[in-house]
Amino acid sequence: MNVPMSEPLSEPPMNEPTNERMHGVADAATHQHHDVVIVGGGLAGLSLALQLKRRFADIDVLVLERRSHPVPEAAHKVGESTVEIGAHYFSEVLGLKSHLEASQLKKFGFRFFFSEGRRDIDQVTEIGASTPLAVTSYQLDRGIFENFLGEEALRRGVRFMDATLARSIVLAADGGEHRVTAERAGVAHAFSARWVVDACGRAGLIKRQLGLARPNAHTCNAVWFRIQSRIVIDEWSDNPAWQARCTPRARWLSTNHLVGNGYWVWLIPLASGSHSVGIVADPRVHPLERFDTFDKAMAWFEQYQPRLFDELDPKRHLLQDFAFFRNFSYGCKQVFSAERWALTGEAGLFLDPFYSPGSDFIAIGNTYITELIALDRAGRPLGAHAQLFDQIYHSFYDSTLALYTDQYGLFGDPEVLPAKVIWDYAYYWGVLSQLFFQNRLTDLGALAHLRTELARCQQLNLAVQAFLREWSAHSAKRNPAVMLDQAALPWFAELNRSLLDTLDDAQFRARLRASTAQLHRLAADMLRDAQRAYPAVDGTALRALLQGPAAAEPDSAAPVASMLLAESLPA
Ligand SMILES: Cc1cc2nc3c(=O)[nH]c(=O)nc-3n(C[C@H](O)[C@H](O)[C@H](O)COP(=O)(O)OP(=O)(O)OC[C@H]3O[C@@H](n4cnc5c(N)ncnc54)[C@H](O)[C@@H]3O)c2cc1C
Repeated sequence: MNVPMSEPLSEPPMNEPTNERMHGVADAATHQHHDVVIVGGGLAGLSLALQLKRRFADIDVLVLERRSHPVPEAAHKVGESTVEIGAHYFSEVLGLKSHLEASQLKKFGFRFFFSEGRRDIDQVTEIGASTPLAVTSYQLDRGIFENFLGEEALRRGVRFMDATLARSIVLAADGGEHRVTAERAGVAHAFSARWVVDACGRAGLIKRQLGLARPNAHTCNAVWFRIQSRIVIDEWSDNPAWQARCTPRARWLSTNHLVGNGYWVWLIPLASGSHSVGIVADPRVHPLERFDTFDKAMAWFEQYQPRLFDELDPKRHLLQDFAFFRNFSYGCKQVFSAERWALTGEAGLFLDPFYSPGSDFIAIGNTYITELIALDRAGRPLGAHAQLFDQIYHSFYDSTLALYTDQYGLFGDPEVLPAKVIWDYAYYWGVLSQLFFQNRLTDLGALAHLRTELARCQQLNLAVQAFLREWSAHSAKRNPAVMLDQAALPWFAELNRSLLDTLDDAQFRARLRASTAQLHRLAADMLRDAQRAYPAVDGTALRALLQGPAAAEPDSAAPVASMLLAESLPA
């Protein structure tokens, strides 16, 4: 079962409930009606409550959260690094920018070091941007954020009951009201609601009840802990040329990845002053039992990431927590229903922490749920929309899952991983992020119009992921002391910036077509570059797709040089 060691499934120790978090809810046995009851007030549930309140000022939303607020800072939950969709959702869609700017950390993009077995970080290949790209993202201290979300929900008129354990959800089969029972400080409460949303994380109440769990083919494990200290990776070398590669000299604000065959280690700074550290690994290469306690993880670092071991060894006494998930990734048969229930966040499905898509899928799922509730409030039938939104959401999940399944073997390849990162980001910024930033996720007309392009991108992605494995099988895995600077790839930096454009319908369709052509050209460049370096790389399947009848027109405006080659900055 996917249960972290630090997080029991039910009935955690509760502090005394605080009555100010009971706004609008009587402190005795009650039976109340609400428009929407959200079970679980974590990241997904509280965000949805804010999104609904922002869209409909008069909506009556109740959130039930089993933990008492305030929750602890730093050592609360994982899900600390955001990427563009999640950051845009929290900042712009929910309107939380001032909190993010004042109380969280601005992220300096992502950064990767091929540092396995090495202490000389300045002598290995680094992937990252030398200066921040245009679209801002954040590192979230989840304790600080959830405390703020709870307060903000109350300020905006959401009814938020913390320290309240939901006991049962009874879904109405006949179009009537759903029922939820809960307990707070020994007092039973019962609620009825037109909509019920399961946001209770891995506990997955509705998923269990309806037998919706669906395993997937991606089986990796993760351990993590927080240390009450900063890990300033910028200080890991005093080589002035290496230090001068980045402006500002603040690599520590990135989500830093220390990578090797079959695993990656994350380093995420938190606004509370702590640092989050995690190991995510394919058990076929690194079984969980090798690092499932802090002492074992330290012994593992000493062997595989010795510079991190050096950093942490004198700070052992500053350890704040330690937890793990075995086999963290899973699917779900259905997340939205015309019967007026939905699952959001980890109560539905979960992919992988690499590239931090967790908050993105919360943003996407909540946006579909909000739209379904809007249709329902307008008296419109939900059947077709619920089904289509569910299909689209699952197609995003399937395409993103392909970035991870059987790909952990590439993480130790300094020749192939840089190409994969560029591809994966071009796909993410070129397609999914455009749909989200341009507010077209629920625009079924636009999506129908672009069906061919979207299917083409999906096909290309599957072929490229398989091709990357083939390339890596031939690669010499050279690890020179260079920085592959993504800010020096003009088309890449521009793709990131383009998310901020405001597009009308015609411009949006043109943007997606340009993205498709760009991905096509990038795939062709990868094939060509790989075969130049390793003529034995076959690439038949990808070449067939690139030459097939649906091949996009070459992007005539694009430069002739390889899209993968940035100015390489030696140390
Ligand atoms: C190893 C790992 C690393 C990750 N890293 C990232 C990352 O860097 N970036 C990112 O975006 N995502 C990341 N994620 C994903 C991220 O953690 C999730 O997307 C996010 O935490 C899910 O939020 P949620 O609200 O669905 O679940 P939770 O945050 O778990 O919230 C569920 C809430 O429901 C409450 N609850 C449970 N049962 C009941 C009940 N019966 N009654 C009332 N309340 C109940 C719980 O107390 C909890 O507060 C990571 C995930 C893993 C496994």
